[in-house]
Amino acid sequence: MHHMNKSAKQRTLSIVKPDGVEKGVIGEVIRRFEKEGIRVVAMKMLHLGKKQAEGFYAVHRERPFFSSLTDFMSSGPIVVMVLEGDDVIARNRKIMGATDPAKADKGTIRADFAGSIEQNIVHGSDAPETAATEIHYFFSDLNIVS
Ligand code: ATP
Ligand code: MG
Repeated sequence: MHHMNKSAKQRTLSIVKPDGVEKGVIGEVIRRFEKEGIRVVAMKMLHLGKKQAEGFYAVHRERPFFSSLTDFMSSGPIVVMVLEGDDVIARNRKIMGATDPAKADKGTIRADFAGSIEQNIVHGSDAPETAATEIHYFFSDLNIVS
C-alpha cells in the first residue's frame, strides 16, 4: 500500500517577530506549540541588522513590501526557534493562522495577537526545503539538540 508519510518527524523554523517580543507573548507562543506536543530543539534571541533581515527574506526581494518588512524585522529583538514534531511544518502554520490576521482563524496566534498583515507576530517555514535553508540561516547542526 502506498504510504503517505504524513506523520514523519520534521523540523521547521519559527520566529517570534519584533512585535511579538514587544507585546510580551514569547511565552504564550511557545506554550501553544508545547500544548500541541511540538518540541523546541534550538532557541535564541537576537536583533537582526537590516542586511541580515534582507538575507533571510531574500525570496521576497521583488515584493512591494520588502523594504518595509525588512525595516520591521530589524526594528527590535526576535526569538528564533527550531521546532520538531510530526508534520510540524503544516501544524505550526495552522497554529500561526493566515498571514493577514483579519483572515486568520479564531484562536490562532495571528488572529489573537497580530496588528497587521506585516506585523503578524510569528514566522513559520512553509516547506521542507525552505525549513532546512531557514534553520541553517540561524543554527548549525551542533546547536540543535536531538
Ligand atoms: P512568514 O513567511 O513570515 O511565516 P507567511 O508565509 O504567512 O509569513 P509570506 O507571504 O511568506 O507570509 O510573507 C512573509 C512576510 O511578509 C509576512 O509574514 C508578513 O510579515 C509580510 N507580508 C506578507 N504580505 C504582506 C503585505 N501584503 N504587506 C505587508 N507585509 C506583508
Ligand atoms: Mg512565508
